[in-house]
Amino acid sequence: MSYELFRQGLDAPICLTWELTYACNLRCVHCLSASGERRADELSTAEARALIDTWAAMKVFYLNVGGGEPMTRPDFFELMDYSLARGIGVRFSTNGTLIDEAAAAWIAARAYLDVQISLDGATAATNDPVRGTGSYQRAQRAMELLAAQGVNFKLNAVATRQNVGELDQLYALAQHYGAALRVTRLRPAGRGVAVWQAMRPTHAQNRILYDWLLAHPDVMTGDSFFHLSAYGQAVEGLNMCGAGRIVCCVDPVGEVYACPFVLSPEFSGGNVRNPGGFAWLWQNAPLFKHMREWQVGGSCQSCNAYASCHGGCMATKHFTGRELDAPDPDCVFAPDEVIPLQPM
Ligand code: SF4
Ligand code: SF4
Repeated sequence: MSYELFRQGLDAPICLTWELTYACNLRCVHCLSASGERRADELSTAEARALIDTWAAMKVFYLNVGGGEPMTRPDFFELMDYSLARGIGVRFSTNGTLIDEAAAAWIAARAYLDVQISLDGATAATNDPVRGTGSYQRAQRAMELLAAQGVNFKLNAVATRQNVGELDQLYALAQHYGAALRVTRLRPAGRGVAVWQAMRPTHAQNRILYDWLLAHPDVMTGDSFFHLSAYGQAVEGLNMCGAGRIVCCVDPVGEVYACPFVLSPEFSGGNVRNPGGFAWLWQNAPLFKHMREWQVGGSCQSCNAYASCHGGCMATKHFTGRELDAPDPDCVFAPDEVIPLQPM
């Protein structure tokens, strides 16, 4: 399908993230949803099941489930099974700490359930300052249990200034467990706002990352690095910002945002608890309609790389205080400057 068709939006989101809970047993310094404690008004099991029914009727074909730590929800297994029974595949992201032998066997027994373990360094020395003391070892234990069950899981690493030098090691680590590697962009969202400046790769590192990704086309990236395609050859993955067009995020209390990295009131289309629910919001919310008509303007419009970069990531621009029509802060043609951060 073409960029133009995606830009105008589809009847149902292709990339639907569902943050199940704000509860988390870790406190990662870059958490995009600033998770920690469960909120009292999170969707009930009945509301969550009704939402899955809506998505099944809309023919949503898979969900990206996250949090917080989704496995902290007592009804996690029930909701995942309900989604699968309604014909919706699931990829859930977890820190791995709650994966025991029984959970690994449960995952292995489900064909359309994909699991992604988060790890932000190839060693504990790199990972644990970001994800917490002992988190590397706990994720390693989860990966061992999954590998023992023959699960082809994903290992997801957020690329940072501290771990770009470990890309080869991360790749080898994933291979060791029979897993696939996914590398994603650090966005200044949630707690990530406070650490973005210190952790974002430098422009020189982004160039190294770009070359490395071209040499490793089996590494998944989602929509993380299309702004780097401005260097020349397009990186694998979704080469556009799909926010509000093919991407959206439902948070634990039912708020529907244009993208998981913009959990901010100005990017909410409304709440699934409102009349019309999710289906009405996706098709009619003024914010989403606007985003389907909007194109990044400004200097990007006259840039030779516009066709591959389209001005970059909206979330990154928003949380660094840029106009949405401005180039991405990591535009490959920009100087390696220090960007002032907008307080949350
Ligand atoms: S705003 Fe950024 S993170 Fe969100 S969909 Fe667009 S490119 Fe992806
Ligand atoms: S000027 Fe805009 S379109 Fe060109 S590379 Fe930079 S962010 Fe992308």
